[in-house]
Amino acid sequence: MLLPKFDFYEPLNMEEACQVMSGLGSRAKLLAGGTDLIVNMKRGTLSPGHVVSLSRINDLKGVTFTKGRIRIGACVTAAELCESEEIKTLFRALQQGASDLGSPLIRNLATIAGNLVSARPAADLPPPLMAYDAKVVLMKESGEREIPLEDFFTGPGETMIEPDEIVKEILVEKPRDCSGAGYIKLGVRKALEISLVNVAAFVSLDDPDGAIQSARVVLGAVAPTPMRAHSAEKVLLGEKPGEALFVRAGEAAAEDSKPIDDFRAGAEYRRAMVQVLTRRTLDLALNEARSR
Ligand SMILES: Cc1cc2nc3c(=O)[nH]c(=O)nc-3n(C[C@H](O)[C@H](O)[C@H](O)COP(=O)(O)OP(=O)(O)OC[C@H]3O[C@@H](n4cnc5c(N)ncnc54)[C@H](O)[C@@H]3O)c2cc1C
Repeated sequence: MLLPKFDFYEPLNMEEACQVMSGLGSRAKLLAGGTDLIVNMKRGTLSPGHVVSLSRINDLKGVTFTKGRIRIGACVTAAELCESEEIKTLFRALQQGASDLGSPLIRNLATIAGNLVSARPAADLPPPLMAYDAKVVLMKESGEREIPLEDFFTGPGETMIEPDEIVKEILVEKPRDCSGAGYIKLGVRKALEISLVNVAAFVSLDDPDGAIQSARVVLGAVAPTPMRAHSAEKVLLGEKPGEALFVRAGEAAAEDSKPIDDFRAGAEYRRAMVQVLTRRTLDLALNEARSR
């Protein structure tokens, strides 16, 4: 399959990229790893007249740690998230999401921003990032804005990003002591698989043996966008963690979920799996919280 014809741009910095996007708007598409964009262009579902590559912009690369928070450049790949020592030590659930994404070939190309902007309901990076309460920094010619990732997704394949905006980076606060997170993806196969259900959970405790001070439970592939399970979080808040509590939180998460039947799995199966995976991710989060 041949690609349709398009004009190609390779800006060298963000200023230049913003200028180009400001002039072209919705007639252009940004290109990062190309694992979604190029596939869709080859299929003929997208045929932008202009393609703007981000590959030469150094500002969009690298994971850096500043002022108690971590900054992940928009073009950091899933493979780089897997390899980063900071991500491994501080954001294990995110590293798990990155290592569950696609295959080694895909992980070497697929970027964090591309995964967010593609906005697939079953994508692997949004749930752990939302569990860590990540923020997305968007930039255009007239300036920058920072928005909670939780507000970013508006529907399958849709986000609140404007046509001339570029994701510059993702920001996440350093998790405090006695906090931890977990991520589990359920698929039919172990690799190159779209999630039937995925769940990320974050908890922070008063002290290693204390009550749950804050909790976030995020569900993927069971609604048009990744979603917080607020009822499950309410069950957890202020309570001493333990098996019975996590079972109740799992039941509440299943109630919150809005799965559909499709050729991959039935809605009832997905709802049952939300219950199981919520309990298991909470176990992972608790174990990490008690050891940190
Ligand atoms: C075989 C295969 C298996 C896959 N398996 C998985 C999987 O298991 N889990 C999973 O989550 N995904 C999977 N994917 C999907 C895909 O790899 C991811 O969504 C990927 O992270 C997209 O990133 P990219 O850099 O390739 O984006 P691109 O394809 O370059 O771009 C995707 C979209 O994001 C936009 N974009 C990219 N960067 C920016 C930016 N900085 N600012 C604004 N817009 C931007 C582009 O304009 C485009 O609309 C798979 C894909 C393939 C082909």
